[in-house]
Amino acid sequence: AAPKKVCVIGSGNWGSAIAKIVGANAAQYDQFDTTVNMWVFEETVNGRKLTEIINTDHENVKYLPGHKLPPNVLGVPELVDSVKGADILIFVVPHQFIVRVCDTIKDHIKKDAVGMSLIKGIDASPEGLKLISEVIRGKLGITMAVLMGANIANEVAEEKFCETTIGCKDKTYGSMLKELMQTTNFRVTVVEESDVVEICGALKNIVAVGAVLLHGLPRLPLPPSWRAAASLTSSPPATGGRNRKIGEAFARTGKSIEQLENELLNGQKLQGPATAMEVHEILKQKNMVDKFPLFAAVYQICFNGHPVAEFIQCLQNHPEHK
Ligand code: NAD
Ligand code: 13P
Ligand code: CA
Repeated sequence: AAPKKVCVIGSGNWGSAIAKIVGANAAQYDQFDTTVNMWVFEETVNGRKLTEIINTDHENVKYLPGHKLPPNVLGVPELVDSVKGADILIFVVPHQFIVRVCDTIKDHIKKDAVGMSLIKGIDASPEGLKLISEVIRGKLGITMAVLMGANIANEVAEEKFCETTIGCKDKTYGSMLKELMQTTNFRVTVVEESDVVEICGALKNIVAVGAVLLHGLPRLPLPPSWRAAASLTSSPPATGGRNRKIGEAFARTGKSIEQLENELLNGQKLQGPATAMEVHEILKQKNMVDKFPLFAAVYQICFNGHPVAEFIQCLQNHPEHK
């Protein structure tokens, strides 16, 4: 069979770390076309175009500084050009941009392309909750898989040992996607329960924010359900996570989440609080806010000025204790 052509749609912190892996594997394995396109949302960095920097210096100096990308990863500024002829589409943009991305590419992709979403988040609307992979499938009509884990982009780029999970309902694609993603230090498990993998990936970021906020309070035990989830988060074990960075600054300074994202993340996007807001909207629709008091607390603390100490009441009144 002809080698499969891969496009990485997105070139932020995680997108660039993933392009490093995918580029190396595409060069190594015959089943993949060696050239990997990476869509770059064009901007000017130090007076140069970011794509020009990536394609000459092979480094995304803004979003993943200090790591070389394989030379066969080609930064492409036009989204439509980047996906042309691609057999495998890897979606890795902050979740607020995915609808526009899909609308732009829908008439330009191969009908039998396979998509894999690395995007953590959910889509809340008056019709209810949609997984991001469902949004993409709905717009493009392609087979979708997901890849999620407690993965911090900088750690993966540093080739620290990390594990991740591909959720893929269709077994035929699982092994191909695994070969594309796995390295000695980035170990992949493939499961068929794709929706579970995806929702856990999204909810984990709310838990991460909550765990960081709690961290600033006098020692508090987490309820069992959260202990399990918190053990999957970037905090406290790893220090690189953005939810941690912003959560700590939020508890310390009282500035808004939006302001801290602008001040501290240099263009990177925070997902935890936004996901808390979307989950809150869904829980309200379903009259289930009371059943998930910690999700509600993260939302109220992040967006409605509630005191961080509200977590204590939440835990005192948690349904698990009734
Ligand atoms: P990021 O937070 O670094 O996002 C910045 C990216 O968004 C840049 O590439 C920027 O050019 C782009 N951008 C800015 N404005 C845009 C616009 N209007 N339209 C399209 N793109 C625009 O991105 P990331 O870290 O690659 O995160 C992507 C997804 O990966 C998120 O859903 C995140 O939850 C998930 N994820 C991230 C990590 C991590 O450690 N960073 C780990 C696992 C999963
Ligand atoms: P941060 O946004 O905290 O960096 O984490 C993103 C993520 O999903 C890590 O698994
Ligand atoms: Ca190859």
